[in-house]
Amino acid sequence: MAQSTPALSRLVVGNWKMNGGPDQLYAAAAIARATAEDTPEPRIAICPPATLLHRLSHVLMGSAIMTGGQDCHVEAAGAFTGAVSAGLLAEAGARVVILGHSDRRQGSGEDDALVARKIAVAIDAGLEPIVCVGETWAQRNTGQALEIVRRQVRGSLPPALAGQAFAVAYEPVWAIGTGERASEDDIAEMHRAIRRELSEMFLGSRSAPILYGGSVTPEGAAAILAAPEVGGVLVGGASLRAESFVAIIEAAREADRPARETRRADRD
Ligand code: PEP
Repeated sequence: MAQSTPALSRLVVGNWKMNGGPDQLYAAAAIARATAEDTPEPRIAICPPATLLHRLSHVLMGSAIMTGGQDCHVEAAGAFTGAVSAGLLAEAGARVVILGHSDRRQGSGEDDALVARKIAVAIDAGLEPIVCVGETWAQRNTGQALEIVRRQVRGSLPPALAGQAFAVAYEPVWAIGTGERASEDDIAEMHRAIRRELSEMFLGSRSAPILYGGSVTPEGAAAILAAPEVGGVLVGGASLRAESFVAIIEAAREADRPARETRRADRD
């Protein structure tokens, strides 16, 4: 008989991008306070600029909130002025790292092969990669979205990920920081397609959550998180303020409730 699928805990990730002076640490402390009494689900991570990572990790010490990098260099070590290696991120307290974000794919010309190499380096450093994929508006408009994203998944995720903790974030490029977001139907269709790719590539493993990212707000979060195969959200702008990020975390906690109850029943 086929085994029932284990219920997954959702993952909520804040991407602070190039924002975050010391004042931003107060927001992190408020997020930690607001989520301290709750269950450890969903899993939560905040990815600040590299300059703030060590201090943020210190502020969040003792809370269940992980910290992470927004990128890492493709080499584990070497003379690369201005770059940050996966190992240095881990030493500064990071547990996760965002890789292949469209800001890097488009702004810094990163391709799937480079992202795949960065993932391998991140795993070696003990980091959980959060691998971003997503189509441009022109690609969606010309009916290529599914094909583009499938290709990115195939090309970006190296075999070294088998058996490792990782997440994929579907972030339509046109939805990032624009206030526009994909419809729940489009999100569900894309997430199912990504799940199929992952199942084929990693022999049916269902352990990797597939996140949605792109103008996620407290108002829209519940509907997104209820869509099939949405295993969490990657949040940019709305993660900068404690109030909005906590509201999104609460939406994820609510979406997680049935799975949490199944897990509890399985344990009892
Ligand atoms: C992002 O930075 O990955 C992102 C999704 O940003 P926003 O939520 O602001 O669209």
